[in-house]
Amino acid sequence: MRDRPGPGFVLPALLLLGVWLALLTAPAIAGIVIPMDDGDLIRGADVIVQGRVARIESHRDVFGAIQTYVTVGLDEVLKGDVAGPEVTIVEIGGTVGDRTYWLFANPEFVVGERVLLFMDQRVDGTLRTYHFYLGKFSIVTDPPTGNLTAVRGVPPRVTARSIAAAVAAPAGDVARPLDDFKHQIHRRVGEPQPFISRARPVLPFRSAAVPASGASEQRQEFRFIGDPNPPLPVNPARTLVRWREPDLNQPVTMRVNATGEPTAPTLGVAQARAAMKTWSRVSTSSFRFAEGLPTSAGGFQAGDGISAISFRDPLEQIPDPVNCSGTLAIAGIRVLNEPTMVVNGRTFYRALQGDVVVNNGWEACGIFYQDFENLTEVLAHELGHVLGLGHSADSTIDPISGVSGATMEPVAHFDGRGAVLHADDKSGVTFIYPGRTLIVQRTGRGSGTITSGSDGIDCGTECVAGFAVNSFVALTATPSSGSAFTGFVEAGCESPVLMSVHRTCTARFESAPDLVVSAIAGPAMAGPGTAVVIENTVRNNGTTAGPFNVGFYLSSSSAVTTRHRQLATRRVGGGLATNATTADATRVLIPADVAPGSYVLGAIADVDDEVDEGAGEGNNAAATAILIVRPDLVVTRLTAPAQAGTGLPMTVHSAVKNQATVAVTAPASTVAFYLSTDARPGGGVRLAETRAVPALAKGRTSTGATRITIPSDTPPGTYFLLAVADDRRVVDESDEGNNARVAARAIAVKRPDLTVRSVTTKPARGVAGMNVKVRHVVRNVAAAPAHAPASTSRLVLSNNTALGDADDVDLGPVAVAALAAGAHAALTTTVSIPDGTAPGRYWIYAVANDGGFSEAATENNAARTTRPLTIGPDLLVTAANPSKTAPAPGMTVKVTTTVANQGGATPADFEVGIYLSVNGTLDASADTLLAARRVTGGLASGARSGPIVTPVVIPSTASPGTYFLIVRADAGGARTSGEVLEADETNNTRATAAIRIVRPDPTVPSVSSVRMP
Ligand SMILES: [Zn+2]
Repeated sequence: MRDRPGPGFVLPALLLLGVWLALLTAPAIAGIVIPMDDGDLIRGADVIVQGRVARIESHRDVFGAIQTYVTVGLDEVLKGDVAGPEVTIVEIGGTVGDRTYWLFANPEFVVGERVLLFMDQRVDGTLRTYHFYLGKFSIVTDPPTGNLTAVRGVPPRVTARSIAAAVAAPAGDVARPLDDFKHQIHRRVGEPQPFISRARPVLPFRSAAVPASGASEQRQEFRFIGDPNPPLPVNPARTLVRWREPDLNQPVTMRVNATGEPTAPTLGVAQARAAMKTWSRVSTSSFRFAEGLPTSAGGFQAGDGISAISFRDPLEQIPDPVNCSGTLAIAGIRVLNEPTMVVNGRTFYRALQGDVVVNNGWEACGIFYQDFENLTEVLAHELGHVLGLGHSADSTIDPISGVSGATMEPVAHFDGRGAVLHADDKSGVTFIYPGRTLIVQRTGRGSGTITSGSDGIDCGTECVAGFAVNSFVALTATPSSGSAFTGFVEAGCESPVLMSVHRTCTARFESAPDLVVSAIAGPAMAGPGTAVVIENTVRNNGTTAGPFNVGFYLSSSSAVTTRHRQLATRRVGGGLATNATTADATRVLIPADVAPGSYVLGAIADVDDEVDEGAGEGNNAAATAILIVRPDLVVTRLTAPAQAGTGLPMTVHSAVKNQATVAVTAPASTVAFYLSTDARPGGGVRLAETRAVPALAKGRTSTGATRITIPSDTPPGTYFLLAVADDRRVVDESDEGNNARVAARAIAVKRPDLTVRSVTTKPARGVAGMNVKVRHVVRNVAAAPAHAPASTSRLVLSNNTALGDADDVDLGPVAVAALAAGAHAALTTTVSIPDGTAPGRYWIYAVANDGGFSEAATENNAARTTRPLTIGPDLLVTAANPSKTAPAPGMTVKVTTTVANQGGATPADFEVGIYLSVNGTLDASADTLLAARRVTGGLASGARSGPIVTPVVIPSTASPGTYFLIVRADAGGARTSGEVLEADETNNTRATAAIRIVRPDPTVPSVSSVRMP
């Protein structure tokens, strides 16, 4: 403990004196006293002394009551008969051990302090400061003048604003020059004491003695929990006082002394109630007072544990007023002074008990007890002390209530404010007991109440209250008869409510059923003609409802009514109790004729008006947006080969995409292909092959290869390939006109071209009925890729070189395998020459692709054997040689002849005749048959007869000249052509070289000629 006053303290104190002196003309009321003027103070005091504080000792008795004994060394006695060098006075309150008790009007003392004390006598003869702090002045030196000055402090200054902002609050009463003040005291000390309501004890003055029992502590100061002496600024590190109950949303219970104030309306009870309530209703604070049962306790009884409001100073602890000035009321507070709580960065002791004592002696003044508002104001002020507030220095006008100055200002305003609090008062209680505001409202057509218990919410009456931060508040909603509570409108209001934030909770009371569609959801989009599921929930926000239907609608406007297109209904056959819900996933069909666009799917509860919802019929519908959309298939890619052959497969690649702008899936479909001579969609020949396209979600593409065969009858040329998505129109698309695509590259379509390159037979001759092997070579002379499929050649027998005339005989088909472009096939077929085929020369034709596929050219399909096939025998003379070339008439010439059968075998005999002709050509009428030889047994095919020598005699009549011998096969018989039917009757003769018939010459040549052979 420091000694005081030291220079460091005095200097700032005196700097403020000028301010205080300037306030001399201000209204002389301060604290919850009406300050007495100095004359009344001098006349009313029993003892006035000047001295120095020597000792301070606090004492706690066995009941817990604390008093403090202040011993003052006497320098001068100005009034009263006080003996000895010092006097000990006793004040209510002080600190012993872990307990503090304090009256909010107490003067403060520090050991060593120089004081001017005004005192009065208790009934036991001991002394106290007269009217608390009003009777105590500190004596300090005013530096500018060096004069001693008496200064009166205003304790304590635990103000609302200074708590919140840690600002210095002005304090202290006006100062008085000590000499002048003492001169006034001397002048008036002999005046008679004023009238007071209670009788003065008039005992010998005596110093108080610290009792031997109980607990005592020597102290250096007598102050409220260590706040500095005025006018030092408030120390923000100082420990403050608060109650713990509000942290649990529990009230601090005050009990009103049952005796009451007889001259006050309602004995002061209604005023106490109003004063408590005004603090309880600061909605930003969790603090609340509650009114307990009436009590007989009263006065300042620190140890009784009862927080009481009492009237008429029952324990005579307050000096009586003088001339309607002095102490009006005082609050005391009992504190457990060990730091227990930290709130808003400040450390607090815990308050255990708070008492308010209203002084006696004011009844004749008429401004206090009888005035409802003034008594209420004083009680509100004192209850502010009880909850932990000191005095405020805020004298501004509150913009909301309009009152001038805080109720906790050290001023009894008596301006009719009653229980009204100033913003500074509210900020003070909020700082100590920060809370979250809960506003309760009621809505709906029913009625009821909402309560929270513990003097918080009791709505309809009290609908706003503060609660401890992060505490839980249980709200109980009680519907009136015939009403139903259907819950709170806001989230987070279901009990218990977590007061982490300021909240408004609106309770709904309904007096009739109130069906609403509380939830509806459906797909964001759908296609016409598709089924969708509407998730819907109907809730009854009112009293119990009977059975009803829920209707489902499709509407192009957001406000769904029964005039819109109804899709389905569902029955809620059991009705709905209060707050009950019925949920369903209702399947509805989007009509196929709905045009794409924006719609809503709506649900209307009680669509058939079966439930009387009173005024609540207008809220039965809800809707969810839906987009009616269609997919859009397009072919995004199509490739084709540069060329293709008719009847041949080709591979094309196609891609089909669903290019819908919203997420709608196209069902499975088919892409078809067309071959067209122009690039225009819509034309051409639909090809047999298609490609299946699976269901495609938005943006998805199906790609694939398709093997397509160009129809065999397709004329060769340039073609375009088209692909058409959804060719059969099974997908309902937003755009049906963009489904086709033309391959960028044209296709050169080519045809095969079969031709017969050669036909040969073996053997080359024969007879009817025989078998002949016919070999023909078929070639596909087309360019790639015109492959020819398997085909059939036809063999035809003709006895001339014209195909297709009447003599043609079908020899049968020949199967020909498929031929690639440029390939050939050699086919050997055994055919039978039909019986009855006349002997002759025949040709065999091979006709390729007989009656088969289309070809690039058909005029080259047939060919024949180059050498004829000989059917039947064909005799010819292969050799004819005379033995003499110059015979004479009558001479014999030996003719050697050979006859061959170059055809089929001869069935019969024939003759070989030898003729003499004047020329090389046989003339049957003119030429002379010289001889014949007969060939018997016929001649096999290829066989010969000869050489055989046949002698002929030159007719003796023959004239000399040049002649020929002509040999003819098959020269005899009835027919001019002989006995044998031959394949060729024109090749039967052969002439020898020319011979010369000469006259016989008797000369040597003739002789020699005879001689020679
Ligand atoms: Zn006060």
